[in-house]
Amino acid sequence: SNAAIKTAPADALALPMEGLKGQLIDGTWTPARDGTTLDVVNPCHRSVIAAVGAGKKPDADAAVAAAKAAFPSWRRMAARSRGALLTELANRVAAHAEDIARVLAAETGNALRTQSRPEVQSTIEVLRYYGGVVSEQKGETLPLGPGLFSFTTREPLGVVAAIIPWNSPLVLAAVKIGMALGTGNTLVLKPAEDAPLAVIKVAELAADIFPKGVFNLVTGTGEDAGAALSGHPDVAKISFTGSVEVGKLVAHAAAGRIARATLELGGKSPTIVYPDAATPERLDALATNVVNAMRFARQGQSCTAGSRLYVHRDVFDAVLGKVVEKLGALRIGDALDEATDIGAIINEERYAAVRDFVREAVEAGGEIVTGEVPPELSASDGFFPRPVIFKNLGNDWRVVREEVFGPVLVAIPWDSEDEVIGWANDTHYGLAAYIFTHDVTAALKAAERIDAGWLQVNRAGGQIPGMSYGGIKQSGIGSEYSIEGALEAYTARKSVTINV
Ligand code: NAD
Repeated sequence: SNAAIKTAPADALALPMEGLKGQLIDGTWTPARDGTTLDVVNPCHRSVIAAVGAGKKPDADAAVAAAKAAFPSWRRMAARSRGALLTELANRVAAHAEDIARVLAAETGNALRTQSRPEVQSTIEVLRYYGGVVSEQKGETLPLGPGLFSFTTREPLGVVAAIIPWNSPLVLAAVKIGMALGTGNTLVLKPAEDAPLAVIKVAELAADIFPKGVFNLVTGTGEDAGAALSGHPDVAKISFTGSVEVGKLVAHAAAGRIARATLELGGKSPTIVYPDAATPERLDALATNVVNAMRFARQGQSCTAGSRLYVHRDVFDAVLGKVVEKLGALRIGDALDEATDIGAIINEERYAAVRDFVREAVEAGGEIVTGEVPPELSASDGFFPRPVIFKNLGNDWRVVREEVFGPVLVAIPWDSEDEVIGWANDTHYGLAAYIFTHDVTAALKAAERIDAGWLQVNRAGGQIPGMSYGGIKQSGIGSEYSIEGALEAYTARKSVTINV
């Protein structure tokens, strides 16, 4: 139970000094205009680790005005010069990687060794990728016949507002910074109220790299700062990562003024195990992949979590047994402890939501293979959940259909390929899918038939810079992580036709 989990006192964190004011607007660190703040809490200890500005509409307005004023000269800078500034930011993040990782672990509850340090490395990679590739912002020439010369250019859109969640705030900030600034737009970034600190540290490093007003940071709640940005008439494009529910609000706000929107939303991604992937010699690696696909080491709080496990009936028990064994070897504890594999759920509300999912499924007759209904906590307990795996569930139960965004995996046996692919697609989500088979024909057939933005075969890794990543169905619109995604979503084509 949770009482057994030892937590070390929070380490001294190298917190940003200027950044505690939260907001970088027009090159100046500014507290919220109404003087209010939001506490940032370490979910492993429920200790307040910092207070940042609770930005609201006036703060959002000031940031958008600064970004708008900075746009005309920023867009004229050579793309490779903008890229060089992104590379400089990557280098500074690399030089401060450990400090940033510790802040990230403390605010998110994502374990330092398994999650937060690797996220800082991904952040550096993403910034370096965009730093190098943005000079590929090229146009075309068109063969329109004698006497006509026509060419296209890729023009930035103007002010981009980017709104990001708390689960992997740093790498998502890097993606938005790389795509928006690299293509010549200016940016107002709003991190999630639960985890703004690591992003503030990066903003501190960025503050004197970019001309003032090019990169602005507004902290505050979604209802206040987020809604003010997504509804702002001078925001040309919104780049949103978060829940489907809020994504719909943002899409409505953008549609009202025909602003562009990129939406990276939730998922309920399937992991499908074929019998040949679970032979005795492959079982161990398979089970590791299943645990990784479910993102158990991030408490299941990942949009790409492979949270529906479909295993062929012949190998169902063997696979579940091995997965439980692998999970049992992972240590739950303080995110800053080097020995910790699994940290804490972000906050009390999310912990209670996970508990409701589990409790409801147990009451309906679902069988817990490992784990427990998350216990009620005393006021000082961290939000540590034990990973849960369910079997014997109804296909229409909430825990099978909805994104739990916690460490809860549902396991369902299958008999025929048609049946399992039908189940995999029976969802309004379409983000990721994981297929485990060494039969290349079966893998390609499944890849062809499964509706998802990103399929991985015999692998359960994270996003890779250069590879377009995005959802279909209600998992989103647009793709990120690649130059193609950036050009499609953050620029507009201009055609110039000359009568020669
Ligand atoms: P959320 O939608 O509650 O919040 C995301 C961001 O939106 C936060 O910054 C929040 O302050 C802001 N926000 C809230 N209400 C708003 C409003 N009315 N207007 C404008 N902004 C508002 O999501 P969350 O709980 O922080 O994150 C979890 C969700 O994010 C999950 O559904 C997860 O799948 C999704 N996610 C998707 C991806 C992806 O790449 N597809 C990546 C990470 C997380």
